[in-house]
Amino acid sequence: MVRVRFAPSPTGYFHVGSARTALFNWLFARHYHGTFILRIEDTDRERSTDESIDQIIESMTWLGLDWDERYRQTDLTPDHLQAAEQLMENGQAYELDGAWWFKVPADGETVVHDSVMGDVTFRHEEFKDFVIRRSDETFVYNFVVVVDDSNMKVTHVIRGDDHLINTPKQVLLYQALERPLPQFAHLPLILGEDRARLSKRHGASSVLEYRQMGFVPEGLINFLARLGWSHGDDELFDRDELIRLFTLEEINRSAAVFNHEKLYWTNQQHMKRLDLEGLAGLVRPFAVAEQSATAEQWDAIDRDRLHLGVDLLRDRSKTLVDLAKVLEILFAATLEPEEPIVLEDRQRVLVAAVADALAEANACEFTPDAVHDIVQSVLAANDAKLKEIAKAVRLCITGRKVGPGLFEIMSAAGQDLSVGRLRALVR
Ligand code: GLU
Repeated sequence: MVRVRFAPSPTGYFHVGSARTALFNWLFARHYHGTFILRIEDTDRERSTDESIDQIIESMTWLGLDWDERYRQTDLTPDHLQAAEQLMENGQAYELDGAWWFKVPADGETVVHDSVMGDVTFRHEEFKDFVIRRSDETFVYNFVVVVDDSNMKVTHVIRGDDHLINTPKQVLLYQALERPLPQFAHLPLILGEDRARLSKRHGASSVLEYRQMGFVPEGLINFLARLGWSHGDDELFDRDELIRLFTLEEINRSAAVFNHEKLYWTNQQHMKRLDLEGLAGLVRPFAVAEQSATAEQWDAIDRDRLHLGVDLLRDRSKTLVDLAKVLEILFAATLEPEEPIVLEDRQRVLVAAVADALAEANACEFTPDAVHDIVQSVLAANDAKLKEIAKAVRLCITGRKVGPGLFEIMSAAGQDLSVGRLRALVR
């Protein structure tokens, strides 16, 4: 039975590198119908904070990475002490200056068999004896991680490759404690676009910042999955596909590059795939924050109109923030056009006639087809073509030069706003 754990240290922001590690463990557990453990490694009491724990929980919950068991490492101190005493009693550890030291065998080597990195050999002469328990009676990461992983019957240790260097020490501890080894899988480093190790310098790096920027969980999950894992040339996966396809064999050995353009693109694709009700729910707080609508306006708007607007406007939106901004088209009495609208007399007459005809329409039937028929009949009666007024009408109705189909967006904006904006233009 597969048992994996994600073991974050709650010492700062929950960044995307940690989220990638959490995701790979979660996918692996779900793929094999195993158990996903969240273990908060808070043994460094000086640096661990409750805010950081909250942020881990909030980020994972938002990403939909649910855990089956949860532990806090400081609750497990009796287990650590028991294992350390075992090593002291067996003579595999000794006390010096109040600290307890693990005795590394002087000769030979330890080979780490890693599912991703292959066999990696470490010669013992490269290590010195190391501390497992400090003189202040706190335990050291390399020791507690072994005790916890083996007590929790963890079968696979999947984590960032910065920990590969720790693994031979951990293997020696497993052997000294006579406990079975898990399978190790070290994930390739994540680099920024400049090929330096990903850090704050490369822009937003905490998961909650990405949430704030309007990324949808499915988009970020897909993007993170592709950081070091691939399945053929496919780029887009939903959650269930990732669970079905994810295996350690398809993890790449080479470093992954965090490409922002691809992140936005992936997010956009997932926004297109979401059902309209779900997407509307996700964009609501952003629309309120961007002042495209008040919460009351948002909740009162006809659902069909809202869904039509969301559907029309999401194609050009890379994030929920983008979408929230353009959704003002559905709510604002008037919009500031991105360039001035200049009308000649004939255009003014046509726009006024269109506005009057639209005002006569049955409010319940303000569909794209109905708007099309009304506008076209006004134009036909005046021997005019749509292109004579299309640009002005678009700028007036949407505030923008380009956008979705004009009749559709007018239908989404609704009769009152469409008529009101056109009348304000020709007043
Ligand atoms: N607390 C360690 C970290 O956050 C865990 C490493 C591991 O997974 O063993 O890096």
